[in-house]
Amino acid sequence: MNLSRIVSAIDINGKSLILILILGILPNTHIVSQITPPEKAGEIHGCATPAPSLQQIQNTLSVISQVQVNQLSGSNCIAIKAHIFRNDDGTGGISNASLSIALSYLNSFYSEAGLQFYYCGQPNYINNSDLYVFDATAPDNDTESALAAATTEANDAVNIFFVNSIKTASGSNACGYAYYPTNLPQFNRIVMRNSCTAAYPNGTFVHEFGHYFNLYHTHQGTENGPSHISAENVPRSGPQSNCSTDGDLLCDTDADPRYDSGNFNSGTCSYTGSETDQFGNLYTPPVNNIMSYYPDACGGIFTPDQITRIQQGYLTRDAHSSYSLHCTPPAVPVPTDLTATLDNNLVNLSWTDMASNEMGYLVERSSTSSSAGYEALAGGAVGPDGTDFTDFSITGNQTYWYRIKPANGDCETYSSVAMVEVGTIFCPANSNTCDEYISRVQCGDIDNSSACGTNGYTDYTHLSTSVTPGTGIAITVENGTSYSQDECGIWIDWNQDGDFDDAEEELVVTGNPGGGPYSATINTPPDALPGDHILRIRITYDKTPESCGTDPYGEVEDYTLNVESCSGSVNFWNGATSTDWTQSANWDCGIPISTTDVIIPAGLPEVLLGSGLTGYGKTLEVELGAQLSIAPGAGLNIGN
Ligand SMILES: [Zn+2]
Repeated sequence: MNLSRIVSAIDINGKSLILILILGILPNTHIVSQITPPEKAGEIHGCATPAPSLQQIQNTLSVISQVQVNQLSGSNCIAIKAHIFRNDDGTGGISNASLSIALSYLNSFYSEAGLQFYYCGQPNYINNSDLYVFDATAPDNDTESALAAATTEANDAVNIFFVNSIKTASGSNACGYAYYPTNLPQFNRIVMRNSCTAAYPNGTFVHEFGHYFNLYHTHQGTENGPSHISAENVPRSGPQSNCSTDGDLLCDTDADPRYDSGNFNSGTCSYTGSETDQFGNLYTPPVNNIMSYYPDACGGIFTPDQITRIQQGYLTRDAHSSYSLHCTPPAVPVPTDLTATLDNNLVNLSWTDMASNEMGYLVERSSTSSSAGYEALAGGAVGPDGTDFTDFSITGNQTYWYRIKPANGDCETYSSVAMVEVGTIFCPANSNTCDEYISRVQCGDIDNSSACGTNGYTDYTHLSTSVTPGTGIAITVENGTSYSQDECGIWIDWNQDGDFDDAEEELVVTGNPGGGPYSATINTPPDALPGDHILRIRITYDKTPESCGTDPYGEVEDYTLNVESCSGSVNFWNGATSTDWTQSANWDCGIPISTTDVIIPAGLPEVLLGSGLTGYGKTLEVELGAQLSIAPGAGLNIGN
């Protein structure tokens, strides 16, 4: 903006000034709201919970760490009161769907500690554009007290203020902050930035509750340099060890100099620095710990000692007198008619919504029994009026039981249970970018032209062709956008075990590397199992094709091959085209396989099993007057 123009505008009148300032400020405001946090510690995780005071550390060592966690039994449902800040006109604010997903993250990560969470009834909504953009710097000077004063806090639930952004007094952008356990209502609060709340299962929401239950950062103390008075040393035991009294006061979380993008490989999620503790021991930081600042994309866990500390923090808070954590929620009717249906490698749940006051629904799953072993699925949640959910996280050869409940109802009142049995499922394969792709596949009855599938994968298993054991069939694959480094892979799961790693399951493809078309011959093994088999085709760029996993480029398509057989029935020789045992057309049901009863009737031409060839059968009956000749060097496997 041209300064002289502003000055002249001031000279003319205030209205022009305001207009020009708005024109000048709006773009900046827009940019600020779009800023992605820089790759810097604290910013990337964005936690603004302050380091514990010396007094708090003493309290943890002498009081909280002494709490006996065997007191923790039975139901430990923790109520959350959501306070949703919005613009003056009621726009903005975190959605109930996001809050339900965030709750599923809490329930999934804290179930190990025996803790579950629920929202205490509907959220409080506060229309206040100023506080919606929470900025503790001048001239805004927003305060947490102002957030609290703008709503009605619960004294029987954790109060969480959800705002659009958080700028701390020091000017840094934060994702959220919390307090360590104290018997004061104002420390029974968490402040969360909306966009950080449901971003990652192991993200800031779960992290802030860690602080709420008295967990410190894994870099607590150590981030101030190896000689700092509370820096944690690398050894876990012996004379150099101080892990029980310094750092985060826990010995199963390794000493952590704090995340720094300059010494971290985010591709492999590994620490690449050479920092050492005061004795010269190289740090091996816990890069996948929820209480670290390492990127959420690198995963997240609580260690056993952290789980114990969480339980101690919970029991400490639960014993406080200035608030409780067990609000009685209003009645929210649970859904009815829950069904679970298997669809390839996913399970579709659907139900009837019986409530009008639900914030959303949470999905729990057990692989133990219909009555025990349920755990919340991280991300297993839908918003208000949701009536279906798809579970992509199943594994094969497993029985699952599902149940659902409202996110803001009684913590232990569920729908009825739905069960599904999962048989063999296939390893997923897809690509991030559809550039080269499978544009046409021809194989027997299959002739499929297609565009690139969503996420680089399309399930065409409803398209099939029949094959006969012991015979070959041609397959041709065309490439929609050719590159000379492209490669095509083709696999068939002959033994129906859910992978493509067994003998003869990967075909020899002609045309690699190159832009296609690619061709191969599918030789169905004489002992192939009858029935449907997955035929998988992949085009990838500049690498050896693999049957499973995600590639940067290309596409994957699955089809069905149906192996014909006369398994369980009888396969008669008819000699239609020649005397050769290994010609499919000479048999009523294709070349006999190891599960076929074989009969060679009389009155037909001689049957010849030539040198070097092998015949199969479950049983073999050569009728009186019929003739079977087995050449030297030929093999006949019957009854194997
Ligand atoms: Zn933190």
